[in-house]
Amino acid sequence: MDFAFTPEQELVRSSLEEFCAREMPREKVREWDETVDFVPEELWKKMAELGFFAFSVPAEYGGEGADMVTAMAAFEVLSKYSTAVALGVGATVGFGARTVNELGTEEQKRDILPRLARGEVKFSLGLTEPAGGTDILGAISTYAVRDGDDYVINGQKIYITGAHKADYISTMVITDRENPKRSRALSTFLVPTDLEGLEIRTIPKVGCHACAACEVFYQDVRVPASSLVGTLNNGWYEMLSTLNPERIGVAMISLGLAEAVFEDCLAYAKERRAFGKPIGQFMAIQHYLANMATEIELARNLVYKCAWLCDNGFPYHVEASMAKMYASDVALRAATTGMEIFAGYGYTMECDMQRYWRDSQQMVFSPISQEMSRNFIAQCFGLPKSF
Ligand SMILES: Cc1cc2nc3c(=O)[nH]c(=O)nc-3n(C[C@H](O)[C@H](O)[C@H](O)COP(=O)(O)OP(=O)(O)OC[C@H]3O[C@@H](n4cnc5c(N)ncnc54)[C@H](O)[C@@H]3O)c2cc1C
Repeated sequence: MDFAFTPEQELVRSSLEEFCAREMPREKVREWDETVDFVPEELWKKMAELGFFAFSVPAEYGGEGADMVTAMAAFEVLSKYSTAVALGVGATVGFGARTVNELGTEEQKRDILPRLARGEVKFSLGLTEPAGGTDILGAISTYAVRDGDDYVINGQKIYITGAHKADYISTMVITDRENPKRSRALSTFLVPTDLEGLEIRTIPKVGCHACAACEVFYQDVRVPASSLVGTLNNGWYEMLSTLNPERIGVAMISLGLAEAVFEDCLAYAKERRAFGKPIGQFMAIQHYLANMATEIELARNLVYKCAWLCDNGFPYHVEASMAKMYASDVALRAATTGMEIFAGYGYTMECDMQRYWRDSQQMVFSPISQEMSRNFIAQCFGLPKSF
């Protein structure tokens, strides 16, 4: 068993650390939280120049084809600096590079992946609908009907991360309305966002401000049949292959957030004084920090183990759900404890702790709620479906 990063992974981490310290200092991340609704274009371009997007694309399509452990090592560094930025770039890496690479035709790969590796295209995933995100199969009503060489899409998606800046929304729709088995009736289309009939509106939300979520309306949106990604009517099962890596990614983003909280709390515990001593001398504060550090270590081991299982061809769907569930709980608990440690100052908008606290809420229910993660894990151990 080897817990060390390879020299290449260490290099990725140190160059990204240097990049983030230079391009994403605290003042900028705070400013973005207050003023922008997506990863600033200038930062996106600089990340592309650094080769960040090339990581997720195989070498034959102009990328560097990094494995999951290396990709997660990079996301750990990035997420410590900004949850919103990590989520924004994560959507393109997860729903663009992975979807096209795993499910796309040769033509789609040649068209999209080299541009994605250069940071020239952005992606979103359009799965959730207003009737519900947990019970997707029961809630989905957006549909596509074949018309000559095209499909015509009608319906609505909700909470779609980064759709307002995306070039493509990987949109899941019903393509066989006659089939009572919904899981056999869905397909995914790469829908360009400049099409007539598509309307996108951002939704004001509590946290992760620099990565907005959107409502997306499809009214007679016409896409060529060639924009189908994967197999007609088998989209549900194929999409699952991108949802497990997404859970590892969100687990890592949660972990990065928890690590940022811990570092700030540790520094504050040494600096803030009460009763003539640094508050870090009080046992209560020490125990808060010890618990936080232990949970972070556990989450870190689980997330990297998932990435390792994925890289080495082992099943990892149970561990990916555990990692998402546990790491997002750890982030939420850390940020809540951080608010106690920072007390009055933590409640002010000039302190980063309130941002961590707001941001941590998003990972709790998205992309899958804690309750549904637990249902799934229990079922994987042979217990009956509880719903
Ligand atoms: C900011 C943000 C970004 C998002 N980004 C995207 C995106 O990019 N693309 C996308 O497609 N979606 C996205 N989502 C949607 C997200 O995946 C859903 O919000 C999530 O799956 C939960 O669905 P819901 O909010 O409809 O909750 P609901 O499904 O309404 O659930 C409500 C509550 O009921 C519980 N519940 C439901 N069923 C069960 C059950 N069987 N057992 C126990 N408890 C149950 C849930 O756990 C939850 O606590 C995003 C959401 C937000 C808010």
